[in-house]
Amino acid sequence: MSRSAVWHPFTQHATEPPPPAIARTDGAYLETRDGRRILDAISSWWVVTHGHRHPRIMEAIRIATDTLDQVIFAGLTHEPAEQLASALVAMAPAGLDWVFYSDSGSTSVEVALKMTLGYFRNIGAPRSRIVVMEHGYHGDTIGAMSVGARGVFNAAYEPLLFEVDRIPFSAAGREQATLDAFETVTRDGQAAALIVEPLVLGAGGMLMYPARVLGELKRIAERSGTLVIADEVMTGWGRTGTPFACEQAGIAPDILCTSKGLTGGAIPLAATLATDAIFRAHYSRDRARTFFHSSSYTANPIACAAALANIGIWKEEPVAERVAALSRMQAEKIARFSEDPRFENARVTGTIAALDLRVGSAGYLTEIGPRLRAFFLERGLLVRPLGNVIYVLPPYCVTSDELDRLYGTIDEAAALASGSS
Ligand code: PMP
Repeated sequence: MSRSAVWHPFTQHATEPPPPAIARTDGAYLETRDGRRILDAISSWWVVTHGHRHPRIMEAIRIATDTLDQVIFAGLTHEPAEQLASALVAMAPAGLDWVFYSDSGSTSVEVALKMTLGYFRNIGAPRSRIVVMEHGYHGDTIGAMSVGARGVFNAAYEPLLFEVDRIPFSAAGREQATLDAFETVTRDGQAAALIVEPLVLGAGGMLMYPARVLGELKRIAERSGTLVIADEVMTGWGRTGTPFACEQAGIAPDILCTSKGLTGGAIPLAATLATDAIFRAHYSRDRARTFFHSSSYTANPIACAAALANIGIWKEEPVAERVAALSRMQAEKIARFSEDPRFENARVTGTIAALDLRVGSAGYLTEIGPRLRAFFLERGLLVRPLGNVIYVLPPYCVTSDELDRLYGTIDEAAALASGSS
């Protein structure tokens, strides 16, 4: 084969080996062109919920293509988008009555930020300051990077990023510091919105915090008229044990971003849900108050059909039971590491489990990720540690035996940290 022309995402082509070519996906597995089966322990970047190529979603895509392809969504509508919007409003926390479609998690966040500023401008009380939680991640477009953690990943783009107010991550025992910091930055009534990943900060290291903190943040926000944007791009669709993570805090955010598992992970689609107050602020005979956002593939009908099939699966298959069973298995299986001196912070929220491999120096830390990844891949496991954080975020169809194999390999992988393997 001639040299590949593909420039891969988050990939240092100078040091990484050529990637295996995947020819087929099936349930919890990826199959390479030469027939190797790889257990997808990260749900292909957290998108696949039920399993790869769920028959119902594949069938919905096939049927949709009999009658529709892309249709411009300004000035026109279509049945898959209408039905999906109603279904999302019915499923989401109460009060999120409007659905704005886009095509990735990052764009759903850009939409949320623009809705926020549009809202305050249109009600005649402009605010633009965004508050974020330390270690947050919201995507790789300019706005999404601006509201995310800063580091080597975005240092080159720093001149383009806007300033935000940061509150500390709500680490165990330090929850009050987060709440106090939020109280302080919102006191002057000028903060437009808090954007936060509910319960689990994903790319920041699968950092987990209790639902009650989220509930408190919402109550503090309400006192100053600050909006809360829940970025449920990763946490939605059962990942944290409930369809949306916000439910566990008993809160309804003002804006909710969803993508990834929205189509069961089969095809790109995103939605930003908003309250009626935010919609009303844009509803006017004055065309200058229009919500000025679009992308070509807004509400792609095939993707909407896939998302409707996903919701059908949630309604008609025992998904809640599968999520509960996987959550139990994760908690049981990771427990073996909770007293293990080679690891720290073994933790679980719903179906997501994570633990930190103890490593010597920080320099070593930057090297350990790729070495761990290669170690797992050689053993037929797709695991993508975040530095020294190993996490297990599998499709809901994964079996107990498959998890045993995975945790057994995590046990072996610890040897890499001491350099003895
Ligand atoms: N928000 C969160 C919480 C995410 O985890 C991600 C992706 N990992 C994004 C936004 C961005 O989504 P996308 O990669 O689809 O743009």
